Amino acid sequence: MRRFFAPLVAVALLGALSWLGYASLQWYQLQTLPYCFDEQGAVVSGGGDCVVACESEAECDALARQVEGELEGLAEAYDQGSVGAVRSETPTDGQASFSSSYAVSAGETLALTGGEDTAEARSIWELIARIAPNTLSDPYIEQYATYLDPQSDVLAYVEDSDLNGKWSVVINLAGHRASTEQEQLATIVHELGHIVTLNTSQLDPTIPEEECPTAHPGEGCAREGSSILRFTRTFWSEQDIAAVGGFAGEGQGNLYSASPERFVTEYAATNPVEDLAESFTYFVLARELPVGSRVADEKIRSLAQDSYLAEVRGQMRANLVNELVRMRR
Ligand SMILES: [Zn+2]
Repeated sequence: MRRFFAPLVAVALLGALSWLGYASLQWYQLQTLPYCFDEQGAVVSGGGDCVVACESEAECDALARQVEGELEGLAEAYDQGSVGAVRSETPTDGQASFSSSYAVSAGETLALTGGEDTAEARSIWELIARIAPNTLSDPYIEQYATYLDPQSDVLAYVEDSDLNGKWSVVINLAGHRASTEQEQLATIVHELGHIVTLNTSQLDPTIPEEECPTAHPGEGCAREGSSILRFTRTFWSEQDIAAVGGFAGEGQGNLYSASPERFVTEYAATNPVEDLAESFTYFVLARELPVGSRVADEKIRSLAQDSYLAEVRGQMRANLVNELVRMRR
């Protein structure tokens, strides 16, 4: 797998240092290639800050079409339930301590704060950081950690345990290793979807649940106009919410088996927070909005009407296209 990072100088240096087999060829190509994918996933001519460089516009176009098709296949698999991005997000009791724990500073750089600094942990973080828009990771992510629990079906989770508006992203290495590349990507989109929909622009963490007049998913009181509030008011009745044990409840209500057409995946029926994260994941992965009449289709279309979510979707989708291009070159 060859990976290209902006700016070109860094790539050229990496190539010169480590890609001994074809370093000189790579250097030559990168100095002369006129076409690039930029940060928005668009093909541009004239070089500059390339995320991925191509030899010709035609090569860039073909690559873009290939990965758009792959993303579409992933969206379809997700919709049909054959890619289970998230199996559970409740860490088992007595979870082993973190294998690696890092502080994340703006610019997405890691500083080890506990455990062992490993290439695997760093490479998973780099994948997450490439998919997360900077407008999300810079203000809202303060910690990244990994642990190893083969007995758990947790792939990943995010939490803001001290309610300071800054999140931890936690990966179960066992779950990550056992996942397909598609599941890894979909899981990352889902987890980031929680930070997109539960960050302090959406919730007020200073208002406790008993004083919250709207909805309180755990990390704060939903602000009027927030995506979670609009989504929940449109698609969840009071009875539904009570049946699953609250906005972020355990989900014992069997809502999915009662009416599967309401949910994009079975996991989405867990509670409104998961429903929004799952619907958002499909919204990011799918090129076109669904045209069907299922409630699940209506949910996706409603997200497209939410200008905040639509903007984040565009950023994440461009990042995913760029990531797939990197993987396929
Ligand atoms: Zn989730």
